[in-house]
Amino acid sequence: MGSYTISVIHGDGIGPEVGVEGVRVMQTIGAKFGHTFTFTEYLAGGAALDKVGVPMPDDTIKGVKDSAALLFGAIGGPKWESLPHHLKPEAGLLKIRKELGAFANLRPAVVYDELLDASTIKPEVLKGTDVLVVRELTGGIYFGPGGITGDGANRVGINTEVYSTAEILRIGKVAFETARLRRKSVCSVDKANVLVSSQLWREVMIDLSKSYPDVKLSHMYVDNCAMQLVRNPRQFDVIVTTNIFGDILSDEASMIAGSIGMLASASIGGPVGLFEPIHGSAPDIAGQQKANPLAMIGSAAMLLRFGLKLIAEADAIEAAIRSVLKDGLRTGDIAKPGEKTIGTKAMADAVVERLKK
Ligand code: NAD
Repeated sequence: MGSYTISVIHGDGIGPEVGVEGVRVMQTIGAKFGHTFTFTEYLAGGAALDKVGVPMPDDTIKGVKDSAALLFGAIGGPKWESLPHHLKPEAGLLKIRKELGAFANLRPAVVYDELLDASTIKPEVLKGTDVLVVRELTGGIYFGPGGITGDGANRVGINTEVYSTAEILRIGKVAFETARLRRKSVCSVDKANVLVSSQLWREVMIDLSKSYPDVKLSHMYVDNCAMQLVRNPRQFDVIVTTNIFGDILSDEASMIAGSIGMLASASIGGPVGLFEPIHGSAPDIAGQQKANPLAMIGSAAMLLRFGLKLIAEADAIEAAIRSVLKDGLRTGDIAKPGEKTIGTKAMADAVVERLKK
């Protein structure tokens, strides 16, 4: 029985449409398990640009830092695309991730039996897949020294992959701890045959694994991992990797799970975690009740599991998601041609109904 203040950023496009459903599901779970969730809404993205002229206002950052966790919808859209880089909605998202010290990005890719046909990969390859990609989020080549120097044909663009032992250790710990809650297997993905930063990565992971004798550690080069993810995704439990490799592999992993409208994520590591669907603001379907709310509802489950350590509550939401899919309820993105579809709110209603049982 706890009391928690949760920050909510609805954002733009379908963000508010799916966001309200995530909040409603959390309210339902609160009532069921005797918790009080107090939701405070903050501005970010295009919505913030329109009202206060910046994509991530200081008030938002302060409010979020004072809360237990952040439930985030999606930001961005054509209206703000041509703004200078520092004013783009996406710059706001990078800013808050950095402010929150969220160095670990967790992206589960679960293939539900009911949605085996929603992926472009053969059902027999996918059946039973349940992978969690743990991506380092605040270091590596996206943040290392670099720039463009020189003139004419001698102009050179440089980015540098930099990882310290401390950075590798802390993301490694997240992977091992999370694997303990799952099938106790970590595959560390690197390019140690070519990159010295990867050699350090591998050495540190091997050292760290001695503290987790119950978890099996394996290593894979990133190019092989990209292939193995579509060849035999069932072989993976937790994949831990660098920022750039994780960026690419987590998108690949998400496609094996079918629609982007199904996939949740967590960015953790600092005092306050950020939980959001992996999709964007989907301007093409915004305001039409066509968005699948299950990625957002799954993000609420991750908030409970990883942000508040409320495991039974998270399990209940994930079971409700499975149940609506089992009962054949489909939004447009996960429906087969000709299949009956329902809207955003109706899908969330079905989840809420099952949670109340
Ligand atoms: P997107 O994820 O918004 O949409 C890609 C496609 O998937 C679209 O066809 C969309 O209709 C569909 N889709 C997305 N979410 C869905 C859902 N829940 N249910 C059903 N269909 C869904 O990606 P995009 O079109 O490349 O980007 C649109 C805007 O979102 C851009 O401004 C982009 O910068 C921004 N964006 C924001 C985030 C974020 O806030 N974290 C992430 C990615 C993109």
